[in-house]
Amino acid sequence: MIESIKSKKLFLFDLDGTIYNEDTLFNGTKELLNKIIEIGGKYIFITNNSSKSIYEYINKIKGMGIKADYDNFYTSTQATIEYLNTNYLNKLIYAMGTKEFIKELQHNGINVTTTYSKNAEVVLIGFDTEFNYEKARDVCKLLYEHKNIPYIATNPDLACPVKNGFIPDCGAIAKMLECATGRKPIFIGKPEPTMINYCMNNFKCSKEETVVIGDRLYTDIASGINAGVCTICVLTGEATVEEIEKSETKPNFVLNGVKDIYDILNAI
Ligand SMILES: [Mg+2]
Repeated sequence: MIESIKSKKLFLFDLDGTIYNEDTLFNGTKELLNKIIEIGGKYIFITNNSSKSIYEYINKIKGMGIKADYDNFYTSTQATIEYLNTNYLNKLIYAMGTKEFIKELQHNGINVTTTYSKNAEVVLIGFDTEFNYEKARDVCKLLYEHKNIPYIATNPDLACPVKNGFIPDCGAIAKMLECATGRKPIFIGKPEPTMINYCMNNFKCSKEETVVIGDRLYTDIASGINAGVCTICVLTGEATVEEIEKSETKPNFVLNGVKDIYDILNAI
């Protein structure tokens, strides 16, 4: 295990439950990130949440005393932008999402309409915490009128944890729209390998040099397995030893927390 983890160059971290819990940074996070830089590696925080912009994440992380810039983050929005540029360059995209989400698409050159247009060539939905029925009507109308229009969703999560429980995430919005239209979107975020593949490609790292570190088996660990890279499950979030034993989604390594990874990188 030590040799395997020490050979990594690209460290792809989940955020909540992996490096922090809400506003509390886990022990060893700063030391580990500094160590990764010291050994010539790169760390990237990958998140499925498409309701927030990268700048909101940078502010949060910097507030915790972590060195992080634009290219230390990769959200399902970034992956969606790459996906659209690869597959639907210059097409008119009908997009449903938060104002921050729409802004980020536009800043990256995506040709977006946020109201119904009969000329729309792709339908895209995000984790829209500013959702309303007018938007639902627009999506349904487009999916109904154009039976074969490509339909994409940023992330398949059904529920997003908040202070007093959960709120419906992008996957739940997609389910609701499916009830009305019968259409299922193509999902971009974890557990799909898309984000991991784009990160490896962007930072010119091989599968052997890459590791995914997260606290959820069915998203973080599954995305790493689907991309064919090494995975480490930490026990500071959702997954428990019992769950891992029962699950068919098996990480390569199970560690108590990121502090253990730091200790491994430090071992002679
Ligand atoms: Mg997590």
